[in-house]
Amino acid sequence: MEIADEIYQLAQELGVKNVTLPKIEVGNGVLAAILPFVLENDYKHIILVVDDNTYVAAGKQIEKMLVEAGMETKTVLLKANRHQQVIADEATIVELLVETPLETDIYIAVGSGTIHDITRFCGSKMNIPFISVPTAASVDGFTSKGSPLILRGVKQTIQTTFPVAVFADITILKAAPQEMTAAGFGDILAKYTSLLDWKISACIGGEPYNRFAAEMTRKSLEACVQNVSKIAKADDEGVTILIHSLIESGLVMLLLDFSRPASGGEHHLSHYWEMDLLKKDAKQLLHGAKVGVATAIIVDLYKQKLKDLPARDTGEYGGRIRGNWQSIMEILDNIPSPKEIRNLIQKTGGPTTTEELGLDDELVAQSINEAFHLRDRCTGLLLINKFKEKDLTYPL
Ligand SMILES: [Zn+2]
Repeated sequence: MEIADEIYQLAQELGVKNVTLPKIEVGNGVLAAILPFVLENDYKHIILVVDDNTYVAAGKQIEKMLVEAGMETKTVLLKANRHQQVIADEATIVELLVETPLETDIYIAVGSGTIHDITRFCGSKMNIPFISVPTAASVDGFTSKGSPLILRGVKQTIQTTFPVAVFADITILKAAPQEMTAAGFGDILAKYTSLLDWKISACIGGEPYNRFAAEMTRKSLEACVQNVSKIAKADDEGVTILIHSLIESGLVMLLLDFSRPASGGEHHLSHYWEMDLLKKDAKQLLHGAKVGVATAIIVDLYKQKLKDLPARDTGEYGGRIRGNWQSIMEILDNIPSPKEIRNLIQKTGGPTTTEELGLDDELVAQSINEAFHLRDRCTGLLLINKFKEKDLTYPL
């Protein structure tokens, strides 16, 4: 299948030898392929990890298939917090560990990002592999190693493990709430700014870059944008294109062993907002919903503030900025306007402004001034902040 071909080519480009990648199945009815996979690999003791919603969406069906085939299957239903959300924190991790017998051979994570993060963390600590069954095309982390956890109220991403197989059943993904599909599209739109920031980190910060990976990511982004109306309708083709792009983005991060192609200044704003919601013990927002809105803000900020940087006193960065600015500006000029980005999100039914997300302007202003501290990475956001004359205000 085409994902595997491109990924193997990338592995070759990177000189990664003997790469073992997850088996990837995408299509209508691929849940049925889980049983043969489990038998083939001689996984005898199975744990299904679900929550109330994902049990109904796919968990029950998988459980029935495995139990009827005589497999020893235990279903762990993770508990939601007072906001009716399952959170990847200490309590949920311990809940899954307590429910995991030592003889467990395989976990099956049935859900969206959070259930995957909890399962991949517990699996890596217990040395138990896991199978990924996404129930929504909502995020690009299914196939990567990063597990964002909330520990003592602070979010941190821990490198854990990737799945041995992914079964992305289009029938299930199509039935997911529209806001989740819109969030997946938001996480893809973020590539406009993450790819630009990756280029900036390479040219100005001297950080690692890979042209082929950048090109692959750009193609996935373009495929999703071109097919936005199909994604908005959540028809077979639209959902297939979206989940392909999300899976591929995760695999690119996995092979590169960093998240630069998929995460730039827009993700830093989103993380900043998420930490604020955590501090307030407020209901969490979908990752891709925040990231989509943050992308429009970062585009707006970069289009306004990056152009005149070479004319300023940028100290030690000066030479590299002047030498590379033209090629960086070409990428920026090719990014759609903030309005066009918001229109794309709107088509899929996602929130388009921080107001719709329920975030106040004061927090957004703080984030554009401070979020660059969250990662040790050279981005447009870092450069704008490093050489600003006064604090940035929001609305811009
Ligand atoms: Zn993301």
